[in-house]
Amino acid sequence: MGEKLETVLQGTPVSPGIGIGPVHVVARGFSAPEVYHIDENDIPHEQERFRTALEETKLQLDELQQKIKALSGEEESRIFEAHLMVLEDRAMLDRVADAIATRRQNAEFAFYAVMQHFLEAMRRVPDPYLRERTADLEDVCQRVLRNFRPDEAPRHTAPDETHILVAYDLSPTDTAGLNRRHVVGFATELGSVNSHSGILARSLGIPAIVGIEDAVLDIRTLTPAILDGYSGRLILHPSEETLARYQELKDRKEKVRQDLEAQRDAATATTDGRTITLSSNIEFIDELALVRNSGAKGVGLYRTEFLLLDGEEMPGELEQSEAYTRLATELAPHPVIIRTLDAGGDKLPIEPLTEPEPNPFLGWRGIRVSLDRPGMFKEQLRAILRASAHGKLAVMFPLVSGLGEVRRAKDFLKECMDELSAQGVPFDEKLETGVMIEVPSAAVIADLIAPEVDFFSIGTNDLIQYTVAVDRVNHHVADLYRPTHPAVVRLIKRTVDAAKDAGIWTGVCGEMAGDIRLTPLLLGLGVEELSVGPHQVPRVRRAIRALSHVECSDMANFALKTGISSEIMDATMDMARRYYPELLD
Ligand code: PEP
Ligand code: MG
Repeated sequence: MGEKLETVLQGTPVSPGIGIGPVHVVARGFSAPEVYHIDENDIPHEQERFRTALEETKLQLDELQQKIKALSGEEESRIFEAHLMVLEDRAMLDRVADAIATRRQNAEFAFYAVMQHFLEAMRRVPDPYLRERTADLEDVCQRVLRNFRPDEAPRHTAPDETHILVAYDLSPTDTAGLNRRHVVGFATELGSVNSHSGILARSLGIPAIVGIEDAVLDIRTLTPAILDGYSGRLILHPSEETLARYQELKDRKEKVRQDLEAQRDAATATTDGRTITLSSNIEFIDELALVRNSGAKGVGLYRTEFLLLDGEEMPGELEQSEAYTRLATELAPHPVIIRTLDAGGDKLPIEPLTEPEPNPFLGWRGIRVSLDRPGMFKEQLRAILRASAHGKLAVMFPLVSGLGEVRRAKDFLKECMDELSAQGVPFDEKLETGVMIEVPSAAVIADLIAPEVDFFSIGTNDLIQYTVAVDRVNHHVADLYRPTHPAVVRLIKRTVDAAKDAGIWTGVCGEMAGDIRLTPLLLGLGVEELSVGPHQVPRVRRAIRALSHVECSDMANFALKTGISSEIMDATMDMARRYYPELLD
């Protein structure tokens, strides 16, 4: 390392940790072919392989063109002319030949890398007609790649080794599918701290950065790099000194992690004796082991919409019930809060919409979808009820904006209870019911909702975005997304007070709960439960154990009076710095 000049790219950190390794760039749509170094003697052979793959592709395209012509006529068959033109593009051919000869990479990878450059440039052109051609280019690219003879076994495949993944964007499915053993970090152009890929990265414990402009265009596969998920830096071609510094930081963080692990079973109580329930958020049943290892006291939020990832629609009642039963039995005696489907918005849709929504975040999402689809909603409620016989479950409704929705949801729950009773199916008749407080209207009328439920769980990710009118996944306005905005602080306080008056508890399951800079503030506001990603549990436990509740309350009283977010952030941060500096970055 160190021959090339060290370059630092700044993005937004979304998941802490340090990843060191070569970069692997993936384009949208399909992943890179294997890449390996070729000897000088092999250059003619690789150039020949490239020519053969192109000839094969041209033959196929010709055939296809003839077929379409016979079926649909001349006009339609012209599509493939554009494809053929790509294969004859002089600039592309020269660049690939050059890449094989000078960069000494195998032909398919050289071709792929050159095409990525064209593709990304094409995706960014403002002209919609030209942009449309991206799909043609992608298609040709894939076709050529398939035509490289598969009998030559790859000598080196980046994804099977430790690497830092660089992509334009990663969907929740992509993120969930990352191989944690090989991917030591990822950096994307799109995304934000609260996008679902960010949340997943944190829960999987993969260091991640978003918002690196033109990453896919500018960064080359195999570039040595360091990904700093604390500061949001992606350092390409790190110098020996930088590498040594980061190796040392990584080791130091590892030591803190081991110390934290040793406290796994310690009580989550403040120094002056206030106990806080520390539970975990999960998206996949497979995370059960992580939850148990973290020492979390159950699950405070199970995002059931992730069941949609396995198929087009929610699994049926019995299949869901099996999944919930696994959670209930394996975590017993700790409680598991199952949130009913929260589809729509930036999340997976439950069904294709007939027309795109102008404002998906203000549209058909959360409990609104469930109330409009009683069949599906009741299947889920009955599945939860069935599983409730096997452990301690609770149900929670997302994106509630008014009392009517709470009552209707509860009516459905009651109907399901009656149906199961009639069939003689056992369930927990005292199943606790809660709502997420994540729409400002619900926080404002928390005093009216509280008597109707058993608990509140504040979804700060949405509560912040709706309170300050800042899209949680739009990086252009990311710095306006402020968890310590005085209005957010007051809404949390209002919710906690309303709950207290009604004799129910309040937790926080949004990302604020896992942000240890904010633990003093949340404890001071009177929150009784924090539900965080399994990897965040040890740090939050340590933070709780270091704080005095009385001091937190004093600080929160100050926060409730001041009108400036940064002053509130400074106040809570100051306590964090004084009581657990080793946890801060
Ligand atoms: C939230 O909005 O804070 C929350 C926990 O729910 P989600 O992130 O799934 O919308
Ligand atoms: Mg939410």
